[in-house]
Amino acid sequence: MKDFEKLLRDNNLKITKGRLAILELLHQSKIPMNTEEIFAEVDKEELPSFTSLYRILNQLTDVGIIEKNLYQNGLLYYELRDKKHKHYIICEKCGKISAIENCPISDFEKEASIETGYIVVDHVIELKGICPDCQNK
Ligand SMILES: [Zn+2]
Ligand SMILES: [Zn+2]
Repeated sequence: MKDFEKLLRDNNLKITKGRLAILELLHQSKIPMNTEEIFAEVDKEELPSFTSLYRILNQLTDVGIIEKNLYQNGLLYYELRDKKHKHYIICEKCGKISAIENCPISDFEKEASIETGYIVVDHVIELKGICPDCQNK
């Protein structure tokens, strides 16, 4: 288990049950989660309202513990910052997201760097598709 209490302390945030619950949830999740999903999963005693959820997500994003990204389905998704570099595929029909473990881009980054002289620092790739469930409908 990760030491989220230390992480919060290091970022000058008070250790609260709500913050810890969100971090633990995002840590267990293999994929980024949107606010609705987080709120549905989290213990309501630790995080009673949507407003407090938003507030905590913003605080954690501000200090860089988590990051938020706007996906093509128009929703914001949250994930822990220290997660391994990963790409995701999103279903165009139901919005489900799955992780793709391998990143094939490093060769391409090298080529791009040689060709343009740039130092490549990052890349963003989002794949779209139809998930197995939707294919069977
Ligand atoms: Zn689908
Ligand atoms: Zn990649």
